[in-house]
Amino acid sequence: MNTPLHGGLGIYIHVPFCAVKCGYCSFCSVGWSGTKAEGYVQAVLRNIRDCSDTSRPADTVYFGGGTPSLLRPEQIAEITGELRRCFAVTEDAEITLEANPNTLSSERLTGYLEAGINRLSIGVQSMDDDELRLLGRRHTSARAERAVLDAVNAGFENISCDLMLALPGQTPEKAERSADMLASLPIQHISAYLLKVEDGTPFQSRGMEERLPDEDETSDIYLRTVKRLESHGFMQYEISNFARPGYESRHNDRYWLCEDYIGIGPSAHSCCGGRRYAVPPDVDLFISSPAQITEVTDENPCSPEEIVMLALRLKCGLDLRRVESIRAGIEKKIPALVSAGLCVFDGQTLALTPEGFLVSNSVIAHLI
Ligand code: SF4
Repeated sequence: MNTPLHGGLGIYIHVPFCAVKCGYCSFCSVGWSGTKAEGYVQAVLRNIRDCSDTSRPADTVYFGGGTPSLLRPEQIAEITGELRRCFAVTEDAEITLEANPNTLSSERLTGYLEAGINRLSIGVQSMDDDELRLLGRRHTSARAERAVLDAVNAGFENISCDLMLALPGQTPEKAERSADMLASLPIQHISAYLLKVEDGTPFQSRGMEERLPDEDETSDIYLRTVKRLESHGFMQYEISNFARPGYESRHNDRYWLCEDYIGIGPSAHSCCGGRRYAVPPDVDLFISSPAQITEVTDENPCSPEEIVMLALRLKCGLDLRRVESIRAGIEKKIPALVSAGLCVFDGQTLALTPEGFLVSNSVIAHLI
């Protein structure tokens, strides 16, 4: 088991617009406004010029949100063009755009490809229309399928879809059905997240937390979905991520391996130059500021403890040579975790099993 290390730099662009706010969502986003979006794009371009760095290769770019696919292809092209002028974006850089199925016409998809996007992450969430309604999503499973097929016809060869698990009323069988339907589409990657009711969301005020499956049902849903996705060739490489071989997300790996990335946009985080910092989640402030305001959130990132925490999210696990200073303490605790079926250890690399992923927070707290 080898830990992949890429080096280089990643760039994250946060696009803070959504057509409708989903009841479970706590990400930074506001309603769509064409004028505001134009101001936002200009602010992104200013900030790209501001943190220009051509000293090392930038091999991943990620447009997240929000709903980046609300921006027109020409707006995305303006941003990717400026990125190529101000950063050493590599020829084979992975450039991802998060997209809502409802926004993806064939024409738009072709435009995004021309703008340099080579990976799409489509917010499908479920292939069950009742679940989609419950989540407040405006698309149907048929619309999601159409979006995937249109993307393939437009020429996309690297498509990811999101799937939400442990929804109110969801049974393992329902989750498996969604996983089967999604896995039968011509896609290469699936992100499967457990629904968490976040503070301050409409889901919380509607008491959704009480309607979630209990702990045993949740672990059943998760473990059966992992198995199901793997039986379709989508191999788990991280707690929530599954890919056909060779299609693991390079940008996401960067977060888990403590590699440098720069974030641009309201609420965007960066880990660069030995510090972590964040932009306040204020869209108007981001648009009106000559340069984005950043607040340092960590003066000493990538401590051995943090390396353990992040690397153990990966199926390939943690090479203990990365944390020599705390290795002895960790090694003492491994045998009990292995006996409990929560970890595997080959003498050098420690990795969680799917059962271990389910209780990763307590396993990690125990180790460090
Ligand atoms: S579309 Fe995505 S970012 Fe926007 S509100 Fe829904 S979940 Fe949140």
